[in-house]
Amino acid sequence: MEELKCYMPKTLREALEIKAKVDVIPLAGGSDLMVSHKRTLGLTPVFEKPVMIIRNLPELRKIYVNDKGECCIGAGCTSAEIAENTLCPWHLRQAASRMGAIGLRNSATIAGNIANASPKGDTPGPLYLLDARVKLSSLRGDREELVSDFIVKFRTIDLKSDELITEIIVPYSEDDFDYIFWHKVGTRKANAISKITVSQAIKFEKDGKTVKDFRVSATATGAKTNRSRDVEKLLIGKAIEPAIIEEVVNGFDQVISPRAMPEFRREATRRMIRRFLTEAAKHPKDKVIDTYEGYSMTGAPAPRK
Ligand SMILES: Cc1cc2nc3c(=O)[nH]c(=O)nc-3n(C[C@H](O)[C@H](O)[C@H](O)COP(=O)(O)OP(=O)(O)OC[C@H]3O[C@@H](n4cnc5c(N)ncnc54)[C@H](O)[C@@H]3O)c2cc1C
Repeated sequence: MEELKCYMPKTLREALEIKAKVDVIPLAGGSDLMVSHKRTLGLTPVFEKPVMIIRNLPELRKIYVNDKGECCIGAGCTSAEIAENTLCPWHLRQAASRMGAIGLRNSATIAGNIANASPKGDTPGPLYLLDARVKLSSLRGDREELVSDFIVKFRTIDLKSDELITEIIVPYSEDDFDYIFWHKVGTRKANAISKITVSQAIKFEKDGKTVKDFRVSATATGAKTNRSRDVEKLLIGKAIEPAIIEEVVNGFDQVISPRAMPEFRREATRRMIRRFLTEAAKHPKDKVIDTYEGYSMTGAPAPRK
């Protein structure tokens, strides 16, 4: 039987001391690591390096609002905790509530989802949209980086050997946007890996017509989550007209690069952007632009009510 060296620090300080000295694999919920290191049925996973279990570090389990009004989420918070906590931004709660099944949501952590750097990961979509940052801690101190920069490319993150992700900071307030949208296309409503997920948000100027802020991000549409400020700028300072919607739709289409099922993913993305902007321009009563009411996001027949 293989021996596995396993560290179980009780405090963040202890964890950072171990990380500074030993080349360890941090293990949070283990939902990615146990799968990526699995062997045949019945055999325990094998890890090439010692493992450090960080799941229960109390410092990584808090959700609070800081003095700048930003939502701070401990790296070890699970999808279930985020989904239920109304301090967390709406887009992120949607994404967290649709990850895997209940059991998985009770173990999968936000830092694990980011560090896994999968283009199909659910939380990076909202985190890119909201300009969220990761806090990276080591014995040398803390630094912060945009999640969109920290995820360098497919399965690659900008984590130094002595660092741990300790917090995710999301600049967010309920008033930031007038209309919001989040839709995951999967084989089921939950417990399905995303085929594509689109997050969107818009804020109008006081005149109710001119766009002050518009954002769109999409997962599973390239090597990493996609967002383009240049495309978003096409709409800023303008009123929503059919021609400008098409400009945005075509601009975002140039940004994404889906490899599998490209026609499907492109068409679904186009539909979701068109739908959101068309509905937002009508100024509906509800802030959330609904995705299910008799409207097909993918070109397939819309579900019956
Ligand atoms: C059945 C199943 C269904 C799934 N469904 C979904 C889904 O619907 N949507 C989705 O997005 N994902 C899904 N996943 C993937 C997975 O559950 C998520 O990516 C999860 O968030 C990973 O978190 P974890 O805590 O389990 O990570 P772990 O497996 O513990 O770690 C993943 C990676 O992150 C690193 N890491 C973890 N915490 C830190 C930290 N604080 N600092 C530095 N590095 C860290 C680890 O070293 C490792 O490299 C699914 C997985 C399974 C097995």
